[in-house]
Amino acid sequence: MNPLQMINALVLPVIVIGADERILAMNDAAQAMLGADGTGLHYITALRQPALLDAIEAVRGDGTARATRYLGDSHGTETTYQVHVARAQDLVVLSFENTTAIAAAGQMRRDFVANVSHEMRTPLTAISGFVETLRGPAKDDAAARERFLGMMQQEAGRLQRLVDDLLSLSRVEDSERNRPQTRVNLTELCRRTVADLSQHGADSRTLAFAAPDDDITLQGDADQLRQVLVNLIENAVKYGSPHVDITLLAPRHEARLRGTGVRLAVRDQGAGIESHHIARLTERFYRVDSHRARDVGGTGLGLAIVKHILNRHRGRLVIDSEPGQGSVFTVILPVSSPDL
Ligand code: ADP
Repeated sequence: MNPLQMINALVLPVIVIGADERILAMNDAAQAMLGADGTGLHYITALRQPALLDAIEAVRGDGTARATRYLGDSHGTETTYQVHVARAQDLVVLSFENTTAIAAAGQMRRDFVANVSHEMRTPLTAISGFVETLRGPAKDDAAARERFLGMMQQEAGRLQRLVDDLLSLSRVEDSERNRPQTRVNLTELCRRTVADLSQHGADSRTLAFAAPDDDITLQGDADQLRQVLVNLIENAVKYGSPHVDITLLAPRHEARLRGTGVRLAVRDQGAGIESHHIARLTERFYRVDSHRARDVGGTGLGLAIVKHILNRHRGRLVIDSEPGQGSVFTVILPVSSPDL
């Protein structure tokens, strides 16, 4: 068999350039990448991108293998390849590795670090400002000192919540690949959580809980499910209304889960959310009104944490809201019969 035919067995795009600087062979993956069979063309005509052409030239010159980047276009989306260029006797062999996903992950990581830094900078700047004032102009002013210390405590609390939520998010992401193994009595868990959250000194909240007579159990992680409920109820009180209805519905067929599921709905009578925000609420640091969210102590991570916990439980979050009509955040969780 012609060794050049062997490159067709490779999944990576591969191009072989002959001693006459023309393309001697390219495999199916390379043809798909370039959109045409370039065999017989001069490599400059087929490949066009200066960084890659320079690398080929250099490898032909000194025989030392090199790596460079090539930007392709796959069905209208930009694709980044890392190209390995090597000489084999008088041939030059190019192999292309699609690194788009790695590049996207890198971008996400950079965005995340930039967001976290931005979120931390605001309280840190405030605390530094208060310290400066306390050492300078307000040095001997007892009333001002008391006021500034209170504000510093508030800012420190904001940082603390941010760090706590970041740690929760990273723990939840870590656990996301393992299905929860324990059985949880969801009715009991909801009843307790609602009772705990009802006893809150600072506001006049009323939480009403309704559930079917028979307790509902499912496979889950009790701490994480409690966190879902806490985050949704705290949001309902923060952005919604002091009165919140929490309703657990008996298991039934759920088309979204292609199986049996229970619904846990948290309903408030607050200001509601405009529809164009709804799809983005579970993104990290996404807030409808960042000033309002900051004032009420939001980190912008609560619903991202909820989403990851539900992913781990193969559940769903459905958000129904209209401005002026309040909001309903519904969690749908799969249940399998306990005796299965
Ligand atoms: P935060 O920590 O800011 O509360 P979340 O991720 O929990 O972050 O929520 C994201 C945003 O969604 C909030 O900043 C708020 O604008 C909006 N939101 C969440 N719950 C409600 C609700 N019950 N009513 C109105 N807006 C809400």
